[in-house]
Amino acid sequence: MNPLVTEDHKVISRIEQWKQERPEPVCAFLYDMQALREHVRTCVSTLPEGCRLFYAMKANPTRELLEALVPIVHGFETASIGEIRKVRHVSADIPVIFGGPGKKDSEISEALDLGVTLIHAESTHELRRISHIAGKLGKKASVLLRVNLRASFPEATLVMAGRPTQFGVDEEQAGRAIELAAALPHVQLEGFHLHSISNNLDARLHAKLVSVYWARVQEWQTRYGLELRYLNAGGGFGISYTDLECKFEWPVFIEALQKVLEAQRLPGVELVFEPGRYLAAACGYYAAEVIDLKCNHGKHYAILRGGSHHFRLPGAWQHSHPFDIVPLDKWDYPFERPEVRDVEITAAGELCTPKDVLAKDVRVSRLRVGDVLLFRYTGAYGWTISAHDFLSHDHPEHIFIEPS
Ligand SMILES: *Cc1c(COP(=O)(O)O)cnc(C)c1O
Repeated sequence: MNPLVTEDHKVISRIEQWKQERPEPVCAFLYDMQALREHVRTCVSTLPEGCRLFYAMKANPTRELLEALVPIVHGFETASIGEIRKVRHVSADIPVIFGGPGKKDSEISEALDLGVTLIHAESTHELRRISHIAGKLGKKASVLLRVNLRASFPEATLVMAGRPTQFGVDEEQAGRAIELAAALPHVQLEGFHLHSISNNLDARLHAKLVSVYWARVQEWQTRYGLELRYLNAGGGFGISYTDLECKFEWPVFIEALQKVLEAQRLPGVELVFEPGRYLAAACGYYAAEVIDLKCNHGKHYAILRGGSHHFRLPGAWQHSHPFDIVPLDKWDYPFERPEVRDVEITAAGELCTPKDVLAKDVRVSRLRVGDVLLFRYTGAYGWTISAHDFLSHDHPEHIFIEPS
């Protein structure tokens, strides 16, 4: 893909402003906060009746993003006590779901103290521990049982179920877990959590998945005589990083979901979604200035101020991350400015490892030292999954662009 000269004026003007005001090379995550709010508001407001949207904050737990989302989403999905504390720091009472494998007793206890709404139980041992701890606190914990379904979902990038994983209870053992939950004195089984796929780009398939989920939950409800309040269908709405034209079609999903609900809805059961990537990815940009250009063994490299210690996603997913070039005219040295034209470049970071590559063999019409590469869709699983202190470089700035 040939990178375009970007047209996102808000972000570009912040980068130009940086170059005017500061001597250090540009290195920043920039967030378009208005775009974030508008996007998430659209997702929430178009959901059918009886559906709830929680933000899976592991995608990006930055305080500014959480604050922006508190008035918009129905709640937050968390996976550690650290995340729960971050939520409680921005809101005393927004609903919180606490999931994730390997919960510690102290986490369960503090989570109950901090008023989590629902706990996802990931195993029978965990169910017993939740009941034991809630009992000591004189509480009854509302839980959803996470089940790893046996159906397979081959189309998505990251499959969380339908095959052996560390998540949830095997569908074949769900009956035993349901009976256990019913017998335990300090847990209330309120429903099921079925997060089976991640980064799914097919909107119709996602609605079909919900339909599969409803059918399973209905079977359990009937067989075990359960009074359920929630079906949590997880997150996993996808972002295509390598083909930006290819998108998860939200309106198509909503239309198909509406049909599924008309056919199958269980009365009194709310349908919860807990996406992270789809909500947070698009508002984020990662800007890294070109520090050097070189040709080595016939291959062109752009060396950036930044790299995979800030933005590990392309390395983790083994893809070449799309970027735009922000051309900047400022040049202060009294000698010539290195430049390449019409070559394929590999964008490498400032780390001393050949793995520090964000984009590979991308044709550029012109690139100069001092220009900035602007990587898109970096708002989710970017900064938060990266090894920030590897090599002890200064961290990037985090710039939250609000409408002026
Ligand atoms: C990571 C995760 C999510 C969010 O997944 P996305 O792909 O970011 O939508 C939701 N639920 C659970 C249980 C998760 O582990």
